[in-house]
Amino acid sequence: MSIISEVIDSTRAIIQGMSVTLSYIPRRKQTVEYPEEPVTVQPRYRGQHLLHVDELGREKCVACFLCAAACPSECIYIEAADDPRPAEERIGVDERYAKVYNIDYNRCIFCGFCVEACPKDAITHGYNFELSVYNRADLLKRKDDLLITKQVQSKNYRVAFSDEDVDSEYKEV
Ligand code: SF4
Ligand code: SF4
Repeated sequence: MSIISEVIDSTRAIIQGMSVTLSYIPRRKQTVEYPEEPVTVQPRYRGQHLLHVDELGREKCVACFLCAAACPSECIYIEAADDPRPAEERIGVDERYAKVYNIDYNRCIFCGFCVEACPKDAITHGYNFELSVYNRADLLKRKDDLLITKQVQSKNYRVAFSDEDVDSEYKEV
C-alpha cells in the first residue's frame, strides 16, 4: 500500500471516529459527577432490601420462610420466634415473627423472587446501592440493617419520576 493511500485511509478512519464522537455532543449527558451529584435510579430499581412495618411500627414479617424458599441463592436466613404478648405490644403483626432475618449480599443476585414470594408485603427492594465493603463479612446484613425504620438511606441517589425518561439509550437498543 502506498503512503498516499495509507494517509487517505487513516484520515477517513479519523473522520468516521470523530463524527461518532461529535454526534454525541448535542445529546443529553448520561454521566453524573457521583457522589457530588446524586445518581438517578428508576422506580423499579432493585437495591438493598427493606423489611417493612405496619402503621403501628410492628414488623410485617411473620417468619413464614417463603422468601427463603424462593431464593435461588439461598442467601436468606431466618429464625422464627413467638411473641405471645397482646397484639399492640408485639414486635410483629403476628405472634410469630422473625427473631433473626439475615440476607447475605455476597450471594444475593437481586432477582426479586423473595419480594414476589412474600404474602405479607413485608420485604421489598429499596434504593440503597452503596454496598461496597472492604470485608466480605460486612455483606451479611441483619434485621437491623434491613428494617425500614433503621436502614440509613444514602443521600447519593434520587428516584426518577414515573414519567421521567432516564434510560432512553437502553430503550433505543
Ligand atoms: S433478591 Fe433474589 S437472590 Fe437476593 S435475597 Fe431475594 S430471592 Fe435471594
Ligand atoms: S419476608 Fe415475607 S415471605 Fe419472608 S418470612 Fe417474612 S413474611 Fe414470609
